[in-house]
Amino acid sequence: MLPVIALVGRPNVGKSTLFNRLTRTRDALVADLPGLTRDRKYGEGKLGERDYIVIDTGGISGDEEGIDKVMAEQSLLAIDEADVVLFLVDGRAGLNPADEMIADHLRREQKSCYLVVNKTDGIDPDVARSEFFSLGLGDPLTIAAAHGRGVSALIDLTLDELGIPEPDENAVEEEEDDNIRIAIVGRPNVGKSTLVNRMLGEDRVVVFDQAGTTRDSIYIPYERDGQPYTLIDTAGVRRRKHIREAVEKFSIVKTLQAIKDANVVVAVIDAREGVTEQDLHMLGFVIDSGRALVLALNKWDGMTQEQKEKVKTQVDRRLMFASFARFHFISALHGTGVGDLYRSINEAYDSAMAKWSTNQLTKLLEDVVADHQPPQVNNRRIKLRYAHQGGSNPPIIVVHGNQTDSLPGSYKRYLENRFIKFLKVKGTPIRFEFRTGD
Ligand code: GDP
Ligand code: GDP
Repeated sequence: MLPVIALVGRPNVGKSTLFNRLTRTRDALVADLPGLTRDRKYGEGKLGERDYIVIDTGGISGDEEGIDKVMAEQSLLAIDEADVVLFLVDGRAGLNPADEMIADHLRREQKSCYLVVNKTDGIDPDVARSEFFSLGLGDPLTIAAAHGRGVSALIDLTLDELGIPEPDENAVEEEEDDNIRIAIVGRPNVGKSTLVNRMLGEDRVVVFDQAGTTRDSIYIPYERDGQPYTLIDTAGVRRRKHIREAVEKFSIVKTLQAIKDANVVVAVIDAREGVTEQDLHMLGFVIDSGRALVLALNKWDGMTQEQKEKVKTQVDRRLMFASFARFHFISALHGTGVGDLYRSINEAYDSAMAKWSTNQLTKLLEDVVADHQPPQVNNRRIKLRYAHQGGSNPPIIVVHGNQTDSLPGSYKRYLENRFIKFLKVKGTPIRFEFRTGD
């Protein structure tokens, strides 16, 4: 499970600045998922080999009224979702009554928490932090988010305290079984719960009484046509007993965790609403994560021909970046198209987990290069010598040669397209790495 770090503090202490710095350190995996509300932003950070989710909450100023009160409540929900809270205060402005109110709240919650004094650039950090001891939240740490000073050390400490180990390079890979883990994700009300019930089959009686917080998904193991699956239910169908849970059943943290934990993601989109910004953000995250993907455009029942054409055009245009995935137009309510969904899930899984030998990949590389040579650079032809598989789910193809740094983007795309075609990769992104030497 990815650890979750929430940034809280009154407005203007530097939370967004810190959030941007943390999520920017992540090259390909930056994913901002703006929450449903205006004030929660979710991103993924990476320190060394350790990943984490970071939430930027709006601000709690302590004297909220009206909309501010609602926003503050949202901040409190984010605190609830987090494993650890970084409570930011402003080292230049000094201690503020609002800081004291937030500190009170955090102490009452008994949440694991660090007091972080920001903006200590150009001032004496020890002097700046001294007045914050009185908040009773332990030793204040000092950073300058705008300049990155103290930031890595802060996150390092936080992850260490949470007991998140550095992944061991030599660790044996997780034992593989043929159990397909499917995450069903999507915005609220797109039909996830309805689809989960359909996929499990209505006659199945499953009693789930897993205790857990709102951020935990439910993992449902089952079998279909002899194939074992685990369905990761982010909608919490089986647990929706209380109104509060029904309201909060949608959680971005839960969605991000489920994506990380799945082999194949089924992204559900409400065809009647069309493809929204939220859908695009979520898909962006799925693609960055490298998971296999199946798209389900739901609520296809009862739409006029004209409406259907309109949606299809919009889907083609807006979801071009996910064109490696199979698209399905389904009705979870009536069960139409759900069987086909399984075919695509299985296909995407097979591609995502496929194993190719170095011989096979090198032979393919030779054929592809023979058809179309890489260009010359500095009067020397770029040589691509051999290829091996560097990982699965997503498949990683490592191509070795010389001057590979100078390989033009167009040639890389040519190579990638040919590999995808000849290896018959369907429903999963595939990554290429180019190495010079050996
Ligand atoms: P938020 O409202 O808590 O999200 O605060 P912002 O991240 O928007 O920052 C508020 C202001 O403080 C901005 O003008 C930032 O440029 C400034 N700021 C943030 N971090 C630092 C810092 O480390 N040093 C200084 N001097 N200014 C900072
Ligand atoms: P969730 O929030 O994503 O879990 O969405 P639900 O499964 O709770 O569905 C939200 C609403 O959409 C409910 O009223 C469902 O009955 C309705 N719904 C779900 N799937 C379909 C569908 O395929 N067609 C139609 N017409 N309505 C659907």
